[in-house]
Amino acid sequence: MYKAERLISPRFSRETPRLLNLSAQAEFELSSVIEKISGGAYVFEDRECQICNGNRFDILAEHDRYGIPIQTTICCECGLMQTNPDMREIDYKDFYTQHYRKLYIAELVGQPEEFFREEYWRGQRIVDYVLRYVKIPKNALILEIGCGAGGILYAFKQRGYRVVGTDLGVDNMSHGRSMGLDLRNGDLFDLELHENPALIIYSHVLEHICNPGKTLQKVRELLGASGHLYIEVPGVKDVHRNLFQGDFLRTFHLAHIYNFSLRTLTNLLKKNGFERLAGDETIRSIFRPGKTQVTFETDYHDACNYIIHTENWRGFYGWAFRRKNAVRNLFYRIRSVLINMLKRTGLYSLTKRLLS
Ligand SMILES: [Zn+2]
Repeated sequence: MYKAERLISPRFSRETPRLLNLSAQAEFELSSVIEKISGGAYVFEDRECQICNGNRFDILAEHDRYGIPIQTTICCECGLMQTNPDMREIDYKDFYTQHYRKLYIAELVGQPEEFFREEYWRGQRIVDYVLRYVKIPKNALILEIGCGAGGILYAFKQRGYRVVGTDLGVDNMSHGRSMGLDLRNGDLFDLELHENPALIIYSHVLEHICNPGKTLQKVRELLGASGHLYIEVPGVKDVHRNLFQGDFLRTFHLAHIYNFSLRTLTNLLKKNGFERLAGDETIRSIFRPGKTQVTFETDYHDACNYIIHTENWRGFYGWAFRRKNAVRNLFYRIRSVLINMLKRTGLYSLTKRLLS
């Protein structure tokens, strides 16, 4: 494999101190992961690009946001950002089973109701987005891979759909099951279904999968001719306005093997027999089975320009993010005060009726 040294900036070199601090529990998990890497328990191997099978990469960063020594690269042919060299599947399995949740979402471990509520909120937005583009008959089957506590599926269930979810982690599953959801432990390849789902959901999952091509082939087989696939991943061209606050170092971490733009995601899907129905750079997207296309539209130059621009304007984007949050918080505080005032004066129900 050929690699060129081309870090985004000196901040992305191995010598630079890590960006984020962690809780004591997450700090313990981080030490265990770094020990497994430095001790050779986790093995890193060079990979070909999943889209173009290329083997020329520019190096973007030598460590992730927590200082874990992984290399994030961009493919010089198609522009897909990816960890390379990358851990073996068996190492990722150990990482997800033993460390992932405690390291990345430590604050929600042991709080399945909170976890469910956060998923349910996202689920309502996903239902609205999907139904804007796809007509799905009531009572159709919706499948989610990597369903967590099942909150996203619960939003679909409330709209009259039958739902099934699978996840490798069982931490939060019992809460979803107690809400009447059919949640199964396992992955896509363990799943037994007696009909084709109308929709398969991958919400913040595809970027974690070692071999997305193999997964997408299986998804296509499961969907049949008329199903749809919803994919949500953190978009690399959304960094200037999302919670990463214009800082690429916040986006890179061991759990994200791939960092997609809408174009590189679409290239991957086309290669595996899908066509895009809708999508944005957030990234929310809908695909349906289509022709397999081996040709691709490169994102290399666009992605490099975006990275350089974002890094140059990082201070401004961080400032804009904080101002936007401050305004939003102020709005919610004022709203809460007004609602309390109306409730105290007995005018709340009347005002709600007048405004609806
Ligand atoms: Zn490539």
